[in-house]
Amino acid sequence: MKRRLSRAVRVGGVVMGGGAPIVVQSMTNTDTADVPATAAQVAELARAGSELVRITVNSPEAAAAVPRIRERLDLTGCRVPLVGDFHFNGHKLLTQYPDCAKALAKYRINPGNVGRGAKRDEQFAAMIDCALKYEKPVRIGVNWGSLDPELLARMMDDNAQLPVPQDAMDVMREAVIRSALDSARQAEEWGLPAERIVISCKMSQVQDLIAVYRALAERCDYALHLGLTEAGMGTKGIVASSAAMAVLLQEGIGDTVRVSLTPEPGGRRTREVQVAQELLQTMGLRAFAPMVSACPGCGRTTSTYFQELAQKIEGYLRAQMPVWRAAHPGVENMRVAVMGCVVNGPGESKHANIGISLPGTNEVPAAPVYVDGRKTVTLKGERIAEEFQAIVENYVREKYGAKAA
Ligand code: SF4
Repeated sequence: MKRRLSRAVRVGGVVMGGGAPIVVQSMTNTDTADVPATAAQVAELARAGSELVRITVNSPEAAAAVPRIRERLDLTGCRVPLVGDFHFNGHKLLTQYPDCAKALAKYRINPGNVGRGAKRDEQFAAMIDCALKYEKPVRIGVNWGSLDPELLARMMDDNAQLPVPQDAMDVMREAVIRSALDSARQAEEWGLPAERIVISCKMSQVQDLIAVYRALAERCDYALHLGLTEAGMGTKGIVASSAAMAVLLQEGIGDTVRVSLTPEPGGRRTREVQVAQELLQTMGLRAFAPMVSACPGCGRTTSTYFQELAQKIEGYLRAQMPVWRAAHPGVENMRVAVMGCVVNGPGESKHANIGISLPGTNEVPAAPVYVDGRKTVTLKGERIAEEFQAIVENYVREKYGAKAA
């Protein structure tokens, strides 16, 4: 697949665009003014694999907290770049809290929320001035829910004058694109290099997102941040985000992604990081953690044993990754198969690095294990799960090196 060539943007130690691997990012949902809670969630997201973490900077208290959050993270060795999310009062916060402006690695500016009328340009310019002063990149992040109303009204009026007016939704899409591109070019006129500008145009409907990003990809070479906004909760949010982003990623569009999921009550914020990683990995764009292939199960499996084993192995592999990533480079490409019976079990297992084919109903209670396509052992009895895990561990040590784990 050919990637669209965008300008490379450096955000702290992370590069996005210019052919660099697609960056996974996420955002906290803590009160930024609560330093311990926000630092803890940033660290948790970073451990899960978020390569940038955005935090809202919405008040003087939040702005004052930002350098303390940065300090706290640095003290624990967490270097993940922090991105500040600004709306309405960003010009004041960035100028009045220089330590906040310095501690952030990038500023997200929503051109629909920087000010109205004559103040709009002045306030936007103040934020770009801070980016210039502290040598930071910015993301011009349009969201269709907070689109610049003056721009939209102007474009709707112009459209109404046409002999054959366009569909209102097409005008809306064009307004979103124009808001982003006009703001980015304005920032360039004020001196911000294109290599310090990332663009996003978040829409909440799959077809709108695809149409808008295809147009952006044709009309500019800024690095693009992909994300479906208000994607929703649970499977709906995951499916909608994946459907929209997969189409664009397949066309080579997108330099960084965020999957915006509404956490279920008690759910973990890191879920969105895992979904983004799995989207990129299943598409063959990046590898983050060994993947487990498991069959869906059917009437040939009357117990849930193989589902439990698949889940246990997947959880185990993910939990090992923070250590394995450093100790066993390349392990993220490993494939493990956990299959429910003899129909597809041996075949699928042979194609994985390690596979196990569990016994289906009425089959001999034995589970052949395949390593690099060859059957090596047949497991039996009560401890199949533990023995299989030990085989996986040995394989990782032997195949991916054995630096101190
Ligand atoms: S591998 Fe066996 S248990 Fe799994 S779906 Fe296929 S037939 Fe059913």
